[in-house]
Amino acid sequence: MFIAYDDITQRIPEPPEWWLLGVPRYSQFHPHDASVYGSQVALVRARCQFCHAIFDVAEFPGHIDLRDQLALYGDLFVGDPPSHNGCIGEAMQSETLQVLEFWVKESFDWQRLNKFERLLPDAEGYDGGSISVMSRVADAGLSDEFERSHRQKDEAALRKILSDAGVENFTHIARLLLAIDRRKQLLHLAAEQTAFSYSSVAAKSAELPRRRKMEWIWPLISRR
Ligand SMILES: [Zn+2]
Repeated sequence: MFIAYDDITQRIPEPPEWWLLGVPRYSQFHPHDASVYGSQVALVRARCQFCHAIFDVAEFPGHIDLRDQLALYGDLFVGDPPSHNGCIGEAMQSETLQVLEFWVKESFDWQRLNKFERLLPDAEGYDGGSISVMSRVADAGLSDEFERSHRQKDEAALRKILSDAGVENFTHIARLLLAIDRRKQLLHLAAEQTAFSYSSVAAKSAELPRRRKMEWIWPLISRR
């Protein structure tokens, strides 16, 4: 949940053009204004789950590259919406509608990559255009084999399944899946070892009903 910037928004008649980690911005979006040292940023149209207010927000890679997030999940996790009039939805993760702009920094210059600009699953008219790895595996009828190989951390088998399912960069994706698992394990281990409240948060998360995005929020959640 982000803090309110009513002291700014109430003094400026027009609505913000976009939001940077909950902060209202009034000029047209440009990655220069979003990140100094980062190498990727997306401008994502997001919607409050509760009141359906729309916000264009800058989104950065967490522990996973934004392109990999799109490949794996067909979606980006943008977290809570900016503060807006004390709406209950301020503490709920936003729905994701569209990648409006996608930028990467190469050799100190920002380049816009249109191929990653697309509708996201909560958009009206979304046609599965950014189909995820999991959907491809399911469509190929390989979900059971995938689950088994994933559980057994069998990289060779994962590569074969992903390749058979027509996933581009299947070697990279197989390694990425196993790296995400290792990260989850390390987070849990660190929490147990420090007896920090983190572990109770993890336990509570595990008990939550399996919401649409829960299974992949966990590796991303500690970035902010
Ligand atoms: Zn709202």
